[in-house]
Amino acid sequence: MKITDLNNVAVIGAGDMGHGIAELCALNGYNVYLKDIGQKFLDRAKNRIRESLNILARKGKLKDDNIETVLGRIIPTLDYKQALENCGLVIEAVPEIMSLKKSVFIELDFNLPKSAVIATNTSNMSITELASQIKRSSQVIGMHFFNPVILMKAIEIIRGNDTSNETMKFAEDFAYSLHKLPIPVLKDVPGFIVNRVLAPSSVLLNKIIEKKIATSNQIDANFRKIGQPMGPFELMDYVGLDIYKHGADYFAQKIDPEFKSPKWVNDLINEGKLGKKTDYGIYDWSSGRPTINLEDTTEKVDSKDLLLVQVNEAAKLIENGVVEYPGDIDLAIQNATGNVSGIFWLLKNDREYLINRLNFIADEMGVEIFRPIEFLKEMTIPSARKALKARKKKRKEQENQKNNK
Ligand code: NAD
Repeated sequence: MKITDLNNVAVIGAGDMGHGIAELCALNGYNVYLKDIGQKFLDRAKNRIRESLNILARKGKLKDDNIETVLGRIIPTLDYKQALENCGLVIEAVPEIMSLKKSVFIELDFNLPKSAVIATNTSNMSITELASQIKRSSQVIGMHFFNPVILMKAIEIIRGNDTSNETMKFAEDFAYSLHKLPIPVLKDVPGFIVNRVLAPSSVLLNKIIEKKIATSNQIDANFRKIGQPMGPFELMDYVGLDIYKHGADYFAQKIDPEFKSPKWVNDLINEGKLGKKTDYGIYDWSSGRPTINLEDTTEKVDSKDLLLVQVNEAAKLIENGVVEYPGDIDLAIQNATGNVSGIFWLLKNDREYLINRLNFIADEMGVEIFRPIEFLKEMTIPSARKALKARKKKRKEQENQKNNK
């Protein structure tokens, strides 16, 4: 499949991510078949897309198109055959349940033209395992969009064990056609880049609560004081404690049991307190955004420790050959989370101090995944700027080669 031949795209699942992906594709000229399991989900998605297009129009960001033209490119459907029979690419965005995604994959393979590519928007799960369900495993790829899809520029492009070079190139070209920044992920590791690098800081935060070193309010107040719009616990509530738990337990199963969601989070979930969506979680959301007491901060937690454990996890990915350029990790974090500084600036500090600090955190918390890896001692500081430059150069060369043919 070549990107120049692509006109029709299908998106399976019209929820938080699916509706955003459909909107993005339609904005960039593709016809989009948007499939869900009930009319009410499709209606809701169409309303959300209309609202979002209205905002873009108000900001003067809808240029040649008008809202109705973009909306007209989106064809809602409940039928797999209608959704898929004329598509060159499908993006699966159903809930993060392996068995559900596998059953959807079988429908996709059955109904799509033979040459079509299957992309999954899974947050953490194995592309290779999903691809193993079907024959066209070389045409299966991870395309991990970030929320909100319209705003976040990064898309992780994840190579499964069987994914062909042609499929990788096609997915990257597609991301560029959406005016996004594709970040190749060369190995199919749980959580890929961004979610994987962020994961150990959640483990550290949970230990801090468990050991009663500080409260969630104190930590969130610390983050708000340094200008972050939301502290990490408010964010956990906002995303949903069930979503957090699912990711943590998947990492525990696939990487290390130390990632497992802690008892205090599981207790809240068992009480039906999932965060914003149920009005209660770590905080009370029943009257809107929770009130964080900004005066109740703590000096017992150094927020740089949270970055430090991320840097160590990032070093593991670089050592393991997961990224094309080491700076891709900051590039992905900056363009997926809005953290404009990234994480590697921390390595400008005395390296021996950082290594000792990681050993101290590992000992104090009794958590071995924080232990500094040898490679961290010697690695040069990765540069997002260099990675972006290299990527742009490569892209230009590819374009020139294409034009010279
Ligand atoms: P969601 O629950 O908001 O939406 C999922 C949609 O899929 C629902 O509308 C549901 O009705 C529909 N669905 C269920 N079974 C279906 C089927 N068999 N066929 C068609 N539609 C079906 O979920 P979401 O947050 O959009 O997440 C979707 C995927 O994207 C997950 O894999 C998630 O991990 C990943 N993801 C989520 C985020 C995020 O911030 N929400 C970010 C990146 C990736």
